[in-house]
Amino acid sequence: MVILAATATDLRRDPRAPRSVRDVETVFDAHVDRGVVERALAASTFGSMWLDIPRPDYPQATESIVCDLLVVGGGYAGLWTALHAAQRNPDLRIVLIEANRIGWAASGRNGGFVDASLTHGLENGKTRWPTEIDTLEAMGRENLDGMQADIESLGLDAEWQRTGMLLVATEPHQVDWLAAAAHGQGQLLGLREVRDEVLSPTYLSGLYSPDTCAIVHPAKLAFELARACQEAGVRIYEHTNAQRLDSAGVALRIHSDAATFTCRNAVLATNVFPSLLRRNRLRTVPVYDYVLATEPLTGRQLDRIGWRRRQGIGDCANQFHYYRLTVDNRIVWGGYDAVYHFGRKVDDRYEDRAATYRRLAAHFFITFPALDDVRFTHRWAGAIDTNTRFCAHWGLARDGRVAYVNGFTGLGVASARFAADVCLDLLDREPTARTELEMVRRRPLPFPPEPLASIGIQATRWSLDRADHSAGRRNILLRTLDALGLGFDS
Ligand SMILES: Cc1cc2nc3c(=O)[nH]c(=O)nc-3n(C[C@H](O)[C@H](O)[C@H](O)COP(=O)(O)OP(=O)(O)OC[C@H]3O[C@@H](n4cnc5c(N)ncnc54)[C@H](O)[C@@H]3O)c2cc1C
Repeated sequence: MVILAATATDLRRDPRAPRSVRDVETVFDAHVDRGVVERALAASTFGSMWLDIPRPDYPQATESIVCDLLVVGGGYAGLWTALHAAQRNPDLRIVLIEANRIGWAASGRNGGFVDASLTHGLENGKTRWPTEIDTLEAMGRENLDGMQADIESLGLDAEWQRTGMLLVATEPHQVDWLAAAAHGQGQLLGLREVRDEVLSPTYLSGLYSPDTCAIVHPAKLAFELARACQEAGVRIYEHTNAQRLDSAGVALRIHSDAATFTCRNAVLATNVFPSLLRRNRLRTVPVYDYVLATEPLTGRQLDRIGWRRRQGIGDCANQFHYYRLTVDNRIVWGGYDAVYHFGRKVDDRYEDRAATYRRLAAHFFITFPALDDVRFTHRWAGAIDTNTRFCAHWGLARDGRVAYVNGFTGLGVASARFAADVCLDLLDREPTARTELEMVRRRPLPFPPEPLASIGIQATRWSLDRADHSAGRRNILLRTLDALGLGFDS
């Protein structure tokens, strides 16, 4: 376990101080004071900072409801589906049901990076769909621009900022990776240039892509999409958990505790939660991701590290950190630990994981030792719907009347909008450029049942960590997974 054991000020002076977050285990053994981390976390409250704002209420469904399209799930995928369905056909009777509250799950807890990639990064897409990657990249860019256009034309107040993305190398071998990735992909920055952008002693080089990423307030995006849905005529119900899906002649019947929905078509946008379709149960696993948010930085604190362009930032390790500024200058800092629990369960008991928050905080102060007086106000976690290809997959069921999407893994904020259009295209049964994609037509291999899933995932995680600690060298397990097209390469 990584415990920060010296004050950050000591670290700046200490010649043995780690120059990268992955150095930390060896170097910090020499120190004994855990004070900085403990103090910084002491007043943090548990729960998503994004959801710590007033939000609208929607009623529970308590009757029999007939509609043309029923959307199950009130996260981004469901909301974009309902909104775009209403825009395509304003006469359609559309109902969206949400088991809990709109945007309470991944859509209200994420980092708010709106990345154009539909494939969880270029490398992952290139490896899996080499012949269509250019199309996928172009469609991803078009989707990001379309999202911006939707947000502007609908007047959604989601704190959208097209800041671009800065990838940073914090280990010598990553400098080569970034240089290789740079071809046509943004501006490569040397050590001095990257630290001129954002001052961290851990940065060795950077790759700045000004146009491929925006940042957003995740929960506001969900709430504002719900408002736009309602204004477009969609009926929204919260606290309405779809428990069973039956075919009833040409109609579908979906049952919740207190209501029955009869509809012609349905879209299942239930992400990491148990699917209403048995066939989907082994296709994804929940992997927990953890996040911290600081108090708003003062002007002086921010001046110590620069960050004037406010880019989203990520390092390029297998176990990576992602971080960004909010409009009120907090730093949202997440990633690194990605935890799978035996049994595939989504369970809020997995979320408050003290060791992980301490590790994340320690990494924060190593990255920004100049911010040793900053405190964290929030800590939270969410389950990520992970499949074996690390990006969304789709399908049709019940004679083509039910479309579903799952498996966004860690990059669903932008791709959920694309996914919604794919679901609507699939239900229309008219081939489109989207539905013709191999990525859309093919589904990933399922994960094996337990205990094999757990053994395999833990072994892969251990191997990725070893690769990060040994100049990126992938062991036999990772190389085998790569060869089988199951490797994580983003
Ligand atoms: C901590 C964290 C950080 C992340 N950071 C990023 C990031 O920076 N950028 C990025 O692109 N992606 C990120 N992601 C991933 C991204 O948040 C998700 O891919 C995206 O929000 C998925 O949207 P969704 O609508 O599919 O799922 P969700 O937001 O999970 O919504 C699914 C909804 O369906 C409802 N539901 C499920 N079953 C039923 C049922 N039977 N009946 C009724 N309702 C049901 C659930 O209650 C839930 O509200 C992150 C995820 C996490 C957890």
